[in-house]
Amino acid sequence: MMWAVRCFKVNSMRRLRIYADFNGLRISPRNHERYAVALDTFGSLLDLSNAGIRLTEEMPLVIFDWSDENEDLEGHCTVYYDWQRQFWWAELDEQGVLDVPRDERKPVTEFLCLGCRSDLTSTNCFPENFSVETMKPAIIAGKDSTDYIFESRSDLENRCPFCGTPINSAIAPPEDKTK
Ligand SMILES: [Zn+2]
Repeated sequence: MMWAVRCFKVNSMRRLRIYADFNGLRISPRNHERYAVALDTFGSLLDLSNAGIRLTEEMPLVIFDWSDENEDLEGHCTVYYDWQRQFWWAELDEQGVLDVPRDERKPVTEFLCLGCRSDLTSTNCFPENFSVETMKPAIIAGKDSTDYIFESRSDLENRCPFCGTPINSAIAPPEDKTK
């Protein structure tokens, strides 16, 4: 038993761990025996961008959400892009949703450009006094998204004033799509 727990810990340390809104938990559209969580919120974009990671097909990830005072919800996933709905899914492995002891909950205050790593929070990419932490659950990606955090959805395509990288680059559609 101890051995299994150790392996699990090592495994989760090697993978990037990002926020996802577990209210978006669904049967995975591509595999009905698995669950998946939509990576359509600002918090997922925020954590990916700050980590300097752009999503690619089948990338392994750990997703988490706050459950209560003592526990987080967590899932080990691979990601895939949904061209129909226009966002990424994090598809959970056979373990599904896990209750784990809560991780450190340090509020995020920066939004780092995926390209040049500049903090964009005080640039005109974001509205004035924009709080990246409180906007985490806002839905920003997908065809039917309504919970805009900017004036309009096109503001998500705002570009870094220093290097020109769009702020939504971390969750942009895969480049290798052959249509
Ligand atoms: Zn930049």
